[in-house]
Amino acid sequence: LLTLPAAVYMLQEQEALAAPMERTFIAIKPDGVQRGVMSEIITRFERKGFKLVGIKIMIPSKDFAGKHYHDLKERPFYKGLCNFLSSGPVIAMVWEGEGVIRYGRKLIGATDPQKSEPGTIRGDLAVSVGRNIIHGSDGPETAKDEIALWFKPEELVTYTSNAEKWIYE
Ligand code: ADP
Repeated sequence: LLTLPAAVYMLQEQEALAAPMERTFIAIKPDGVQRGVMSEIITRFERKGFKLVGIKIMIPSKDFAGKHYHDLKERPFYKGLCNFLSSGPVIAMVWEGEGVIRYGRKLIGATDPQKSEPGTIRGDLAVSVGRNIIHGSDGPETAKDEIALWFKPEELVTYTSNAEKWIYE
């Protein structure tokens, strides 16, 4: 027979296991693909302990790029940015893990690579703001919208990695 606290604890454990983990949208932009740093970027997310649940390569149309960057419509660099995003292959990804949205942004570094800390992806691998090689969702709402824009639900894979019990308490 279980004591009440033990039963509650087990229930919480089950809920924690059943609760969907946080997901974020990460894209390697055309400059990152052309410069041959995609494996390095994937490696950084992978080694941290985050889990890849969706990935594809595509050349987004200008219209699609415009949808992705709709928040920046009023900015002077918007058109150039959309043209650039659709200028070549992009690696679109969904990464999963505890705190992946916020920590993914930390791995990426500041928008302007000149201001990104060394050790971050943009700090180590990029120089100018219009060629900063990677995109990452900036919050839970954006992550949800961007994942829905770039991926169909069936393109995302739910699985347990053997490493999880060594990554999470
Ligand atoms: P982030 O990608 O870090 O979330 P923003 O959402 O503010 O940054 O901007 C989207 C993208 O627009 C940036 O990654 C960058 O490539 C481009 N960008 C931002 N500011 C400028 C700028 N002043 N000039 C040119 N491009 C810019």
